[in-house]
Formats: sequence, C-alpha cells, structure tokens
Amino acid sequence: MKHVDTIIVGAGIVGLSLAYELASAGQKVRVLDRHQAGKGASSAAAGILPAVCRTGAEHDDFERLRTLSWKMYPEWIDRIRGDSSIDPEYQATGGLHIATSRGEMVSLKVAASQWQADGLDVQPIRSVDELATREPLLQSSFERGHIHGGYFLPDECLVRPPMLLRALLEANRKKGVAVEEGVEVQEWVRGVDDGGRIVSLRTSAGEFAADQFCIASGAWSSQLGQELGLRFEIEPWRGQMVLFKSQPGLIRSVINEGPNYLVPRVDGHVLAGSTVEEVGFDQSNTEAAIGQLIRFAESLIPELNQSSVQKTWAGLRPGSGDGVPLIGRTNAYGNLYISTGHFRSGVFLAPATATFLSQLMLGDSPELDLGMFDPNRN
Ligand SMILES: Cc1cc2nc3c(=O)[nH]c(=O)nc-3n(C[C@H](O)[C@H](O)[C@H](O)COP(=O)(O)OP(=O)(O)OC[C@H]3O[C@@H](n4cnc5c(N)ncnc54)[C@H](O)[C@@H]3O)c2cc1C
Repeated sequence: MKHVDTIIVGAGIVGLSLAYELASAGQKVRVLDRHQAGKGASSAAAGILPAVCRTGAEHDDFERLRTLSWKMYPEWIDRIRGDSSIDPEYQATGGLHIATSRGEMVSLKVAASQWQADGLDVQPIRSVDELATREPLLQSSFERGHIHGGYFLPDECLVRPPMLLRALLEANRKKGVAVEEGVEVQEWVRGVDDGGRIVSLRTSAGEFAADQFCIASGAWSSQLGQELGLRFEIEPWRGQMVLFKSQPGLIRSVINEGPNYLVPRVDGHVLAGSTVEEVGFDQSNTEAAIGQLIRFAESLIPELNQSSVQKTWAGLRPGSGDGVPLIGRTNAYGNLYISTGHFRSGVFLAPATATFLSQLMLGDSPELDLGMFDPNRN
C-alpha cells in the first residue's frame, strides 16, 4: 500500500493550495479526486478578489482571514507562476459598483457607508466624466438614465480560475505531489487499536495510506464525512455563468450591479455572472438564468450584442450553515482535518486558508487563530 504524509480528498482550489503549502514544507502529499482536478466549483468561478479592510480594524478573525488572503495574493501568484511557468492572470483592475434603479442606488449607498466603516477604500463616482474615465463604454448607459450612480473600489482584483488551477496543478506536480484523478473514495479505514485515527482510504483505484487526511471536497464534503459519523453541514449553491468572446480592453474593471457582475479577461473574453440557487447537486444551465445574464450584460454594455456567447456553465459553491468556512481538525479523529464551506470566496481565500491550515497540520501554531472556523462547531 502506498503511504504518504498527507492525503487530501478533493483537487479543487482548496485541496490543491493546501497540497502546495504542505509539499513546499517538505511533506509527501497525495491528492485524490473522483473527477478531473480543478473541474468542480473552482474552475467555474469568476475569480473576483474583493476589496478588504486596509486599516487593521477587522471585526473578527473571518475579516482577518480575508485581509490576509488579499495581502498574500500577489506573492502567492508569483510563486505559483514561477513553479509552473503558467500565468494565472492576476489583475489589479479595481471594481465598479453601480446601480440601475433609484431603489438599487439607495441600497448601494448603504452598502458603501458600511464598506467605508469597515475600512475599505471607496471612491464615489460623481459625474459622467468620472465614470467614462474608468469605463468608457458605460457612458451611454449613464446618459440614457440606465445607470444612476456608483462607486469605485480600487482594491478589487481578479484572477482567472481555470488558469490558476492549471498553474497550481503543474506547480504541485513539480513539487512531487501525486494528484490522482478519477479516483473515488469509497471507505475510510480506522485503526484497529485506535478508533480515533484514520489509517487509510479504500478507493476505486486501491487503498492509500497516510499519517493524516484532509477533506477538501467542496459541496460534497458532508457526504464524505457522514460515513465517519461527522455531522458538519455543507450545502451546494448553484451559480451559472456566460462567457462572451470579445476584443481585449472592451471593459477595464470588474463591473458589479447587485448580485451580477461583468469580468474582463486579458484576451478580451467577458464573463457575466451569476446566480445563487438552491437546487441540490444539479449542475445544469437553465434557459431562464442564461437569458437573464445575457440581458444584464447587454443592457450595460450594448457592444456585447456584437459578441458571440462562447460558453455557458454552472458550478456548485460549498456553503456552510453560518456562512463561515470550516477549517481545522476534527475532534473525533485526531489525524483528520476539514477545509471547506468557502461559498462565494474559495478562490479568494485559498492562499490564507492553505497557509494557516498547513501550519496546523505541520504541528505549528497557526499565525491566525482558527477557533472561529472550528469544523466541530455544528
Ligand atoms: C459561478 C461561480 C462563481 C464564483 N465566483 C467566485 C469568485 O469570483 N471568487 C471566489 O473567491 N470564489 C468564487 N466562487 C466560489 C468558489 O468557486 C468556491 O468557493 C471554491 O471553488 C471551492 O473550492 P473547493 O476546492 O472547496 O471545491 P471544488 O472546486 O468543488 O473541489 C472539490 C473537489 O472534490 C472532488 N470530490 C468530491 N467528492 C469526492 C470524493 N468522494 N472523492 C474524491 N473527490 C471528490 C470534486 O470532484 C471536486 O473536484 C464561485 C463559484 C461559482 C460556482
């Protein structure tokens, strides 16, 4: 039986970024995924890295996790790019937040006051010229009264998730991590004398042993925990997406309106997202949602009318009961860890989650107290 230091179940952004930190610290790591690596929620994501508190006055450790992840991002991307020679397309574009009705403008003003109180850099858009400087193609929408006003958040950044996943996969392989695809975990094997430890996993490709294990299986994480009597709850939340093929520079920043957004890619693609739907494990697209996203995109940027829809897809975000991710060791099994429940922020929170969880798994004290993320709290 093949034995490694750590087995991670799930090769999404959460599992692969943990593997990368553990392998960088010298561990032998194996990552198992029943499908293709990175093809769960992670590649489906937009890759928005939201603005965070920059004044050091975070309310709690979840806020601190966000700020630390935001700060870690550029260096983390450099490391992955250096190890893989693949560019994950990190861009400090900033994000525009606009309102297309008077009601939406009232809500946006309330949100902006809260962002300011939370220590975010928030710049009001005061005139059509200011808007046109930031995003020239929004000028016509503003002039015909479709846009009522907005704010610019310079700290909002972007990454391209499918490229980040490819880069992370390659960087892991270069560090000797064994990423096994098409391998389904069927049974956990517990120690005979020590019921409080896991010794191996029986899978569709044989048995794999390790000193420690981590469930990083996204929306499917609770299913894996159930066999072990673990009761943590993770629900799938479907998000649908539309990708337009356009020319580079059509839009410059992330454009957010209510729950929807437009995201520019370096090569000119524009992504329109997204929905948040409670439909179980159904990952299909619906005509209604795709139609709504296309209308949203074309109402803001009429030029997208000339662009073809290249692709649509859906992914399942892993949501925890209280909105806070589960990151830490299980009480029931001394060598079993969980890292999941990142909901709409898994791509954003990956570097900080991996950094602090790897510290715990390596026997060190995490630099951020993980108490708030305790997976045993349900
Ligand atoms: C439409 C959409 C837009 C999003 N936009 C953003 C964004 O802009 N910014 C952001 O930060 N986040 C965003 N997210 C959220 C982000 O994608 C998720 O939080 C993140 O991808 C979760 O990563 P994960 O590794 O936990 O899960 P996943 O990527 O789903 O990976 C879990 C893996 O576990 C595997 N697995 C499951 N069960 C088993 C098993 N029994 N055996 C073996 N393998 C198993 C799966 O095959 C899968 O590959 C978005 C999500 C969606 C759907």
